[in-house]
Amino acid sequence: MYILPFSMGPVGSPLAKVGLQLTDSPYVAASMRIMTRVGPQTFPALARDDFVRCLHSVGQPLPSLGGFGGPLPTLLILGVTDPAGKKRYVAAAFPSACGKTNLAMMTPALPGWRVHCVGDDIAWMKFDAEGDGGRGPFPVGGAGPGGPGTLGFSWPWWPQCDPQPCAHPNSRFCAPANQCPIMDPAWEDPEGVPIDAIIFGGRRPEGRRLMHDPFAMRPFFGYNAGQYLAHWLAVGEREGARLPRIFHVNWFLRDGAGRFVWPGFGHNARVLAWICSRVAGEDNAETTPVGLVPREDALDLDGLPGVSYGDLFPVSRPFWEKEARELRRYYEENFGEDLPKEVMGELSALEERVKKM
Ligand code: GDP
Ligand code: MN
Repeated sequence: MYILPFSMGPVGSPLAKVGLQLTDSPYVAASMRIMTRVGPQTFPALARDDFVRCLHSVGQPLPSLGGFGGPLPTLLILGVTDPAGKKRYVAAAFPSACGKTNLAMMTPALPGWRVHCVGDDIAWMKFDAEGDGGRGPFPVGGAGPGGPGTLGFSWPWWPQCDPQPCAHPNSRFCAPANQCPIMDPAWEDPEGVPIDAIIFGGRRPEGRRLMHDPFAMRPFFGYNAGQYLAHWLAVGEREGARLPRIFHVNWFLRDGAGRFVWPGFGHNARVLAWICSRVAGEDNAETTPVGLVPREDALDLDGLPGVSYGDLFPVSRPFWEKEARELRRYYEENFGEDLPKEVMGELSALEERVKKM
């Protein structure tokens, strides 16, 4: 039996979470030493008795392969520096296998732009101390695991190894973050980094059955999900707070022939560039019935011959009628009375705008 005192995040940081884990697996003990900071340096934090009790178990009876290990709730944080040297930090919440690691470690396909990784998987955010120079509280984020930290990679081909599955479909390997050449200089800063924007995203090839995963947190709703949504709204009401701007992306939209309409990967820097321009207050968005999208001249598509602006932001009435119906059904079946009225208000307003499309 192994007893592992650990800290996710720099030891002593207000953003870190400490815990004590019991496990009988040497593999887990070894992995925890890569993913977290394990050792006596965590004792002072543990002594405050505010720590997470963890028990690792494979469970009996063993769950079937397909039913176990749903998407993890996760947030990356990256630093993006524009050609003039202005740096901003962006967090992104995508469910598992929706491109966090690729985004956090991209090589930008836009000349002059640089991306650094603060974390590719888990982040905590809280407001920094209030009243600092009259700037108002603003959210800071820190990568959860770290120092040595971990970067998780999925191996989509493992389950297809011939002749039999040779790994769990949700299996990952991890590497110490300090071996990654583009870690942000502030990635271990106990104060965290200031978050300018939060991107939410998922996988939406049109036409498949939609799996709702609010805030990429569904498997982690440890309490009433309506109250969980209300918590996000309450955070936004914090007086004087300088809040991050919120964006939504879908790298996985396909055209009629089944091809991705967006090249993704390093080209996602073009989207980050537009996000930075919005954070800087530029007036370069188009209002549609379903929200703001980049104005045609504001999204840099230079050198992308096959990509057309019109394909990227389809706003079709039949799609959104179906979408609004599905959202209403989802809210009613899953939240009922507990859905915050603000959320239902947004849905009703969306339905009205769609009717006028
Ligand atoms: P994570 O689990 O959220 O960290 O996701 P990964 O970064 O490991 O990516 C999951 C899968 O999505 C991999 O198969 C990637 O090749 C693919 N992927 C990542 N980014 C993009 C993108 O921008 N466009 C497309 N089409 N696929 C992507
Ligand atoms: Mn990942």
